[in-house]
Amino acid sequence: MAARTLRIGLIPGDGIGKEVIPAGRRVLEALPASLGLKFEFVDLQAGFETFEQTGAALPDKTVEVLKRECDGALFGAVSSPTKAVKGYSSPIVALRKKLDLYANVRPVKTVLTAAKPIDMVIVRENTEDLYVKEEKTFDTPEGKVAEAIKRISQRASSRIATIAGEIALRRQNIRAAGAPSIHQGPLVTITHKSNVLSQTDGLFRTTAREALADPRFKDVAVEEQIVDSMVYKLFRQPEAYDVIVAPNLYGDILSDGAAALVGSLGLVPSANVGEGFAIGEPCHGSAPDIMGQGIANPIATLRSAALMLEFLDEEAAAAKIYAAVDANLEEGRLLSPDLGGTAKTEEVVQDILRRI
Ligand code: ATP
Ligand code: MG
Repeated sequence: MAARTLRIGLIPGDGIGKEVIPAGRRVLEALPASLGLKFEFVDLQAGFETFEQTGAALPDKTVEVLKRECDGALFGAVSSPTKAVKGYSSPIVALRKKLDLYANVRPVKTVLTAAKPIDMVIVRENTEDLYVKEEKTFDTPEGKVAEAIKRISQRASSRIATIAGEIALRRQNIRAAGAPSIHQGPLVTITHKSNVLSQTDGLFRTTAREALADPRFKDVAVEEQIVDSMVYKLFRQPEAYDVIVAPNLYGDILSDGAAALVGSLGLVPSANVGEGFAIGEPCHGSAPDIMGQGIANPIATLRSAALMLEFLDEEAAAAKIYAAVDANLEEGRLLSPDLGGTAKTEEVVQDILRRI
C-alpha cells in the first residue's frame, strides 16, 4: 500500500506553545510505518510575538499556506495581552473565520482506572450565537441599556449536530477497535435553553434533532438537556456523557467547566474543525508563569495531534497516540509538575515516544 502523505502546518505561537508543538511533531513522526502514514511539516507564524515583529498577528502567508498546501495543522498558544493593544486581535479566532472552522471539539477524559472515570467530548458551534458580536448601547431616561444579538441559524445548527453524530460514531469505532471505555454505545446530548429562548434555542433544538434523525445515525442514542441542569449533572455525574453538542456560548462555558474535572489544563486537547480541515490546539494558553523552564505538560498537545488525525480519518494512528498517553498517565511514574510529578517536558515526551 502506498503511504499517505499528510502535510501539517506547525504554528507554535507564544510562550509554552514553542515548547509543546515540537513535541507534537515528534510524536507524529514516531508513528509506526505500518500505519502507512508520512508527514511533511511546514513551520508557520502567528501570535503576539509575530504581531510585535511583523505588525500582523496572523500573517497572510500563514493562512495561504494552510489553505493551499496543508491537510491539517497544530496550533500552540497565543498570549493574550492584559490590556487592549491597538491592531492586535486573536489569530486563532481569525483563523477559525478564514478557514470556516465551524466546530470546536473538546474531549475530556480521565484514565479508566480513575476513581470516577470520565470520557466525554464537547462539540461547540463556533460561528454564531451571541458571539456574532453585534452589540449596541443606547441612552434611555433610566440610564444606559446595552443589547446583543443572539443569532442561531438552521444551517449552522444542522452542521454542528451532524458532526456531533459523526464524532459519536467514530468514538464507537475506536472503542470497537479495542479501546477500553466506560460507554456502552454512542450517545449525543443536545444542550439548550429552549424552555426560555423558544425561538433561538428552539431552532437549535429542533434542527439538531432533525439532523440526528438521519438514518446514518440510527445507532446513536439522542437525548436533550437544559443547559443549567446539565451543569449540575456534569459535576455530579460526568460519566453519563459521551458527546455533548451545544450552541456557541453554552459550549464555551461547558467546555471550560468540563476541563476542570480532569485536574490540569495541561491534559486537555481541542480541535477546530471545518470541511476537510482540522487544527489541533491544546486548551491551555501560553502559560507565561512556567515558560522557558521545560516543565510544560505536553499531553494536551499530543492528544490534540491525535484528535487532528481523527478528523483526517486516521483513526488507528490517533488510537496509538491516545493509548501511549493513557499508559503514561496510568503508570504515573513520569508526570509533569502540574500533575504532581517532577518530570520535565522532555522526559514525558520520551516516555510516550517509547510506548508508541
Ligand atoms: P494566556 O493569557 O496565554 O491564556 P494564562 O496566564 O491564562 O495565559 P494559561 O496558559 O491559560 O495561562 O494557564 C493557566 C494556568 O495553568 C497557569 O498557571 C499555567 O502554568 C497552567 N498551565 C497551562 N498549561 C499548562 C501545561 N501545558 N503544563 C503545565 N501547566 C499548565
Ligand atoms: Mg488563559
